[in-house]
Amino acid sequence: MKKFTRTIEDFTCLHCGAVVHGNGYTNHCPHCLWSRDVDIHPGDRASACFGPMRPIGIESKNGETMIIHRCEKCGKVARVHAAPDDDVDAIIKLSADESFVFGKK
Ligand SMILES: [Zn+2]
Ligand SMILES: [Zn+2]
Repeated sequence: MKKFTRTIEDFTCLHCGAVVHGNGYTNHCPHCLWSRDVDIHPGDRASACFGPMRPIGIESKNGETMIIHRCEKCGKVARVHAAPDDDVDAIIKLSADESFVFGKK
């Protein structure tokens, strides 16, 4: 079984169009927090889906902030660690917005 693979890459956010400079750990946009369905195991970039992943909620665990994403294409739900350069306002807005938490539009 493959373990975490560090991949450094830049990508363009599917949602807001920002160019995100990859640091090898982050695959979500720091501005709008949307991600992309590229991993089966974290970092392996093995998913064939490539659908846009909507941030649907925030979870706090052991003092760490996790962003919960759901793929708009295949419905897969994944959790990623929030990155230090993520937009704090976007995280606060997400955690306060019940429509996101309950998966509505
Ligand atoms: Zn974005
Ligand atoms: Zn998907």
